Amino acid sequence: MLVITDGEGILGIGDWGVNGIQIAIGKLAVYTLAAGLDPETCLPIALDCGTNNKELREHPLYLGERKERLTGVEYDASIESFIQSAKEVFPEAVFHFEDFGRENASRILETYRDQVCSFNDDIEGTGAMVVAAALATTRVSKIPLDKQRIIIFGAGTAGIGIANQISHEMMHITQQPFETAKQAFYLVDKNGLITNDMTDLTDGQQKYARNEEDFTQLDTTSLLELVKAIKPTMLIGASGVAGAFTEDVVREMANNTIRPAILPLSNPTKLAEAKASDLITWTKGKALIVTGSPTSPVEYEGQTYEIGQANNALLYPGLGLGTVVSRAQKITSQMLREAAHAVSNQVNLTHKGAALLPPVSTLLETSTQVAYAVCQAAIKEGVAKTENITQEDVQAAIWTPVYKEV
Ligand code: NAD
Repeated sequence: MLVITDGEGILGIGDWGVNGIQIAIGKLAVYTLAAGLDPETCLPIALDCGTNNKELREHPLYLGERKERLTGVEYDASIESFIQSAKEVFPEAVFHFEDFGRENASRILETYRDQVCSFNDDIEGTGAMVVAAALATTRVSKIPLDKQRIIIFGAGTAGIGIANQISHEMMHITQQPFETAKQAFYLVDKNGLITNDMTDLTDGQQKYARNEEDFTQLDTTSLLELVKAIKPTMLIGASGVAGAFTEDVVREMANNTIRPAILPLSNPTKLAEAKASDLITWTKGKALIVTGSPTSPVEYEGQTYEIGQANNALLYPGLGLGTVVSRAQKITSQMLREAAHAVSNQVNLTHKGAALLPPVSTLLETSTQVAYAVCQAAIKEGVAKTENITQEDVQAAIWTPVYKEV
């Protein structure tokens, strides 16, 4: 398992150059803790492409190249050279891309998807996690996923990954093409609703751009106006804009849908689009909430509401373990879909106020179920090199920290 970063988009905090290695080490530690991946098979990799963080470049203890980031063909050539070398040295490795900058992340993923067994946690892991959360909300709201109207506030790496993974799920449910599925989405970025007259859209944003002629009467930079007009059933925040889901926005949404699904995913907590306790109060306990950061249960009018956290650690370690156990040649959308369903199936929603996602305290159990589901999907997709994988095979692959006999 190779976790690779170029350090440009570390968490929400930006360009950390080669210091980004810490995130690769951290993610691998989670692979081991949450899914029992043998640390001997894990390798963290920081690609030194320079850094645009001037403070770091000038710091006497900075270990990386003191140059601005490579761009364009030079950057692409260095990534290509790395991939080809890594493929030669580790022909069976899983390439987990982590915290690349917004402009590069999806291009690298698309370029190498079929060349190496690869996956981007910020795009695909987040997308699949949110599918797991969204499926849980639909079980309570009784509005099927393909009947939802979804505003995604913040159309960056995570926002586009979420839109892609949910639309893939919708296409699977309805057997309709992407052109139909995309009608459910309204993506909002820093210049407002994404429309086809905008000239600076990323490829990912362009796919979801709305016809600007349909919105001429509206101030599309106002989330409140958009909520009034669109009447969303689901509102997802991946913008890093603290408090963007204001009381009037949330109350307006609750006026139009009985159980509004609201997912303020930006983290850390101080960057969240809304606080769970406010969402519960403003909607009188009706909001179906998933947050990006851990959130304490909320007490409201004698009822306790547990709040699920869309923690990617619920998904990617099991996805990785399943990929390793099945020795899959690639990670397909179907494998991601099954991983999302396996996470969502772990939650028991029979009592009022139940969390919509499993707790991190039972990570290993969740990962085992995810890994098994991923193995079955890989076999079905024809990308597995190992056939007939049982639950016991997955259990047997889990590394435990015990001293070897000498
Ligand atoms: P990103 O920088 O790629 O995307 C952020 C997007 O928000 C950008 O496109 C930016 O233009 C947009 N934005 C900025 N100001 C805005 C405004 N006023 N209105 C609307 N959009 C605005 O970052 P990312 O990697 O996509 O992460 C975004 C947030 O999501 C971060 O806070 C991150 O922590 C969080 N996140 C959560 C999870 C999770 O909960 N599992 C996973 C991934 C990311």
